[in-house]
Amino acid sequence: SFHKSKGQHILKNPLLVDSIVQKAGVKSTDVVLEIGPGTGNLTKKLLEAGKKVIAVEIDPRMVLELQRRFQDTPHSNHLTVIQGDVLKTELPYFDICVANIPYQISSPLTFKLLSHQPAFRAAIIMFQREFAMRLVAQPGDKLYCRLTVNTQLHARVFHLLKVGRNNFRPPPKVDSSVVRIEPRKPRIEVKQKEWDGFLRICFNRKNKTLGSIFRQKSVISLLEKNYRTVRALELGQEDSVKEVETKMDFSSFGDDQGMEMDDDGDGDEMEVEDGEADEVQSEFKDKVLGVLKEGDFEEKRSSKLTLQEFLYLLSLFNKAGIHFS
Ligand code: SAM
Repeated sequence: SFHKSKGQHILKNPLLVDSIVQKAGVKSTDVVLEIGPGTGNLTKKLLEAGKKVIAVEIDPRMVLELQRRFQDTPHSNHLTVIQGDVLKTELPYFDICVANIPYQISSPLTFKLLSHQPAFRAAIIMFQREFAMRLVAQPGDKLYCRLTVNTQLHARVFHLLKVGRNNFRPPPKVDSSVVRIEPRKPRIEVKQKEWDGFLRICFNRKNKTLGSIFRQKSVISLLEKNYRTVRALELGQEDSVKEVETKMDFSSFGDDQGMEMDDDGDGDEMEVEDGEADEVQSEFKDKVLGVLKEGDFEEKRSSKLTLQEFLYLLSLFNKAGIHFS
């Protein structure tokens, strides 16, 4: 009996298992991290291909089954099973990660892997099809969203394989895709909170122009408060900072976590009332719009901006003393 809540859909097509391991490009010298080995169908092939497999599995019954399956085989010395929730486990060193995971943990697991150091060579992961297509989307694609940009900041992502639901037992409700995630080396260094606050605003309504997004009263007033706080801190006026609101809440922009999909699946958009009535004239607003003009961003839309353009725009804002965290 399988646990639905743990996303236990076992790969039952051996050709597909072979194909995943082959496309992963596991080398005989590789330490392989497997997440959610289940009954061990992938594990077996990974043990044959690599030097060592470290498998993290949350379900104690699966851990037992796995150990039973490989004990007294030539592979038993090369397999380490860690029982636990991968999201709460400190990951060991590995060269390559291969995983058929429960889809509930797609977002947090992707971020956990992307922040893992030292950077591994690649992660080959089965995701729900739509999640996978968001990871690999390019500017202008319908599924291009905050998740895309956040992921591609740290990695290059390739679509490897479409996998129909009937390859699993029991079959899940959705189709899947296997993607290859290659961490960028060297990393692109950003201040993570700053980057996150910035993208939340840009993708607040990804199909509106940046000019109209940054004209919104709510955006301007948040940025202005933050600007004053940062300035006061720079000038060493810690006392006056307490009077200004110190805790900026950029998290109200965009979707909940930047990594989850919308219920309606049509983008990271949150409708906010806007319009001319919402606009205010101010010096600070001119400053913000001046930055957009400087980089020729006023008429552009987040749905079509490249990663390099986002990085450039953020650098222009920062140069003008405008911060997002
Ligand atoms: N790899 C196997 C296969 O392809 O046949 C099983 C894949 S099944 C989709 C997902 C597996 O991940 C299950 O064995 C489940 O118990 C395990 N799992 C679920 N949540 C987990 C978590 N947070 N950490 C580690 N393993 C988890």
